Amino acid sequence: MPVKVDMDKIVSLCKRRGFIFPSSEIYGGLASCWDYGPVGVELKRNVKETWWKAIVQDRDDVVGLDTSIMMHPGVWAASGHIDNFTDPLVECKSCHLRWRADAVEGKKCPQCGGELTEPRMFNLMFKTLMGPVEEEASIVYLRPETAQGIFVNFENVVTTSRKKLPLGIAQIGKSFRNEITPGNFIFRTREFEHMEVEYFVKPGTDEKWLDYWIKERFEWYVKLGIRKENLRLRQHGKDELAHYAKDCYDVEYLFPMGWSELEGIANRGDFDLTQHAKYSGKELSYRDAEAGEKYVPYVIEPSAGVDRSVLAFLVDAYDEEEVEGEKRTVLHLHHSLAPIKVAVLPLSRNEKLTPLAKEVFKQLCPNFMTDYDDSQSIGRRYRRQDEIGTPFCVTIDFESLEDKQVTIRERDSLAQIRVPIGELKKVIEAKLKGEAFDASSLWATRRM
Ligand code: ATP
Repeated sequence: MPVKVDMDKIVSLCKRRGFIFPSSEIYGGLASCWDYGPVGVELKRNVKETWWKAIVQDRDDVVGLDTSIMMHPGVWAASGHIDNFTDPLVECKSCHLRWRADAVEGKKCPQCGGELTEPRMFNLMFKTLMGPVEEEASIVYLRPETAQGIFVNFENVVTTSRKKLPLGIAQIGKSFRNEITPGNFIFRTREFEHMEVEYFVKPGTDEKWLDYWIKERFEWYVKLGIRKENLRLRQHGKDELAHYAKDCYDVEYLFPMGWSELEGIANRGDFDLTQHAKYSGKELSYRDAEAGEKYVPYVIEPSAGVDRSVLAFLVDAYDEEEVEGEKRTVLHLHHSLAPIKVAVLPLSRNEKLTPLAKEVFKQLCPNFMTDYDDSQSIGRRYRRQDEIGTPFCVTIDFESLEDKQVTIRERDSLAQIRVPIGELKKVIEAKLKGEAFDASSLWATRRM
């Protein structure tokens, strides 16, 4: 059973191996901002691509969209963000630290025990100025969610995609929230990425579609390797529902700091289209020509955080094992999420091995994200690849020069098979798709 890991170990692995660095680190960092390094960016891209494939490519009822971060200020008045996108803020009268009132138990400052001020509502939207003249009219907001870009394009998408309802519109992009208490590494930051779908349905079918999306989204995490016992669903209480929501469920994950939200799946009713129709003066309804009906669709919204998903995948994949008396840290990442799929490792930097090893690398890298590493001992290089979750390492040794065969080592079982170089691409392709590692064809001789 893999260990439940502390956040410190994840943060340190991420720094050490190039997943995630503190932002502007050489200047001392910037609170709650993080940069994705060479392997982190691959993991994050894989999370987004896997989501996009499941949501857009593999279905005929969802299309994609990519809207601007800055939008007309009227959007945020209509959506309710200017009035309601607030958290209650309290400040300590002694040490002046600020807290989200609902995250503090009792009336004392968690830091110094000082007296707290009465809560005041704090709007989480970042404001900036558009254009060179600093006047009220040019205030714009950085979007706190991607959803509104979808709602205001509803008419454009329905007309141009020629799709009927139910129809989903999906978007991945940056969002910004001036969180009062960011923290827990990339769990809560002020700049993050959303993966959101607005699924437009006929009123009356909304509850059925909410159930459908809850199951669909829960299963997505499980299919990508998150253990079921670390996931749960939680329905929002009536007092907790956002101003737009008719009903809402959170998919929660057992993070190192405890059960916390990974994704929210809400029934937004017809709130958004109705509001935008009212504020923009444009009619936003759907005409079903076949049924001779016209209505304002209801919306089911699965809204996930890319960064929070990255964190959950890292935490769930992390393991420490003992192999031949030595500790091995390994990320058992799902093959489709692993940043590097295959590492090419010549046994040593010997000049006889290098040309063949480079040839193998050239053969593999157009097909898979491939790493080439010939520094340090082979044992240390295996350990590095285990720590970044590389499923397969290909080793080129002196025998390879004679028989034109190489050894593939599998990350989880540590089993090794020997295959002809000409077959390597085909074998790795099959193994990445899930073919059992020891059920290889005739040419593969097992080595342990
Ligand atoms: P929370 O209650 O944790 O503040 P929320 O309910 O406000 O989150 P939503 O508006 O439902 O979050 O956004 C959907 C998803 O976006 C969340 O489930 C989470 O994965 C992600 N998310 C929201 N806020 C942040 C943040 N500040 N940093 C990183 N991810 C976030």
